[in-house]
Amino acid sequence: MGVRPDAANSDGRRALLAQIEALSENLDRGRTALETSRIDGGLRAAVDSCFRNRIASKSKELEILQSRTRGATRLEAYWGGFRQLQKECGDLLREVLAFLEGALMRSAGLDADICRIADALLGELDASTDIRWQRFTIMADRDLFVGMSEIIRISFPEFSVWNLPVAAHEFGHLVAEELHRNLGRDPFGEILESEGKKPEAHGRQILNEFFADLFATYALGPAFACTATLLRFDVGDAHRRSPTHPTAAERMHLVFKTLEKLNQLHVAGPYSGIIEQLRQLWEGSLDAADQPPLEAEVARQLDSRLNQLYELLDNAYSEARYASFSRAWTLAENWQAQPDELTLRDVLNAAWLCRLRDRGENQTIGRKALKTCFDVIDSPGRQSHRPGMYPLEV
Ligand SMILES: [Zn+2]
Repeated sequence: MGVRPDAANSDGRRALLAQIEALSENLDRGRTALETSRIDGGLRAAVDSCFRNRIASKSKELEILQSRTRGATRLEAYWGGFRQLQKECGDLLREVLAFLEGALMRSAGLDADICRIADALLGELDASTDIRWQRFTIMADRDLFVGMSEIIRISFPEFSVWNLPVAAHEFGHLVAEELHRNLGRDPFGEILESEGKKPEAHGRQILNEFFADLFATYALGPAFACTATLLRFDVGDAHRRSPTHPTAAERMHLVFKTLEKLNQLHVAGPYSGIIEQLRQLWEGSLDAADQPPLEAEVARQLDSRLNQLYELLDNAYSEARYASFSRAWTLAENWQAQPDELTLRDVLNAAWLCRLRDRGENQTIGRKALKTCFDVIDSPGRQSHRPGMYPLEV
């Protein structure tokens, strides 16, 4: 004999109510964990209201679901609602955990203070875009920008200057979000439609990655192109497609073309030598790994895409363009300069100039550059980026 329908319904209700309660308790535990005094007060304050508001909002939704479940005769729709909430709370609690891990690591000094330099570098980009980014960087298992908390991750344990330019790519994702908000329309969707494609999620994601590479090259100049060419990509797999990212060959094509565009803005062509060197390096690496170059038709489509993205960026954020390469050049000669006359972008470019020139001296150059970065961010006149430095929007 089967279970009576009303008894089954009552058991189902108990099970659903128990799961709602457990999830609600998890949210409470997440909120309590955020109160730990072991995390630097500035870091905590910068995300405190963001996390608290989100947790409070999800708790409220769970309360409503709980009271509706108590009075419901049929439960299917409520299980569906619960599953959705469970997913959203899971994403939120994962972000809380990432913050706790990264912030505790920073607070314990285990990041060799590299996050402080990354914060300051992004602070320079923030000041030039007026985005008013209130967050900070933490170390994680990979470089990442997460829209929910706007905390930017840099790869553990990259305690060197060489990977820092990637933080500018992650910041580029924030700029893309801001661009959409400011324009009040959907520029990426429009680009896809102009190419005869549907503006679906995958296409947007790929455009987003291109835009972030474009922004990083635009804002950092050759330093980002150098990191991308030498350190970022698996050349042996240069044409592999991923569900979320363009191929390495496509990304490098876009980075080189962006640098060429920037180079043409100056009669002297300050980046000509470096572009030639990097192209040779990339093409030589492809060849050595038996990887074909990018197909001409793909390259042509990318060029047209780049022109549209570049125009969007240049119209909205021209102040972000790196424009002091001559200072980097001078610094690379003898590493003597007044720190308050330099930006971190100058230091990163100087470091890469030296690395390309003095092969095999990477560690010595890296140490010198890192010390100069600290001199720059600790120089008395510098307006440093501090997490949560802007008044919270109400
Ligand atoms: Zn990205």
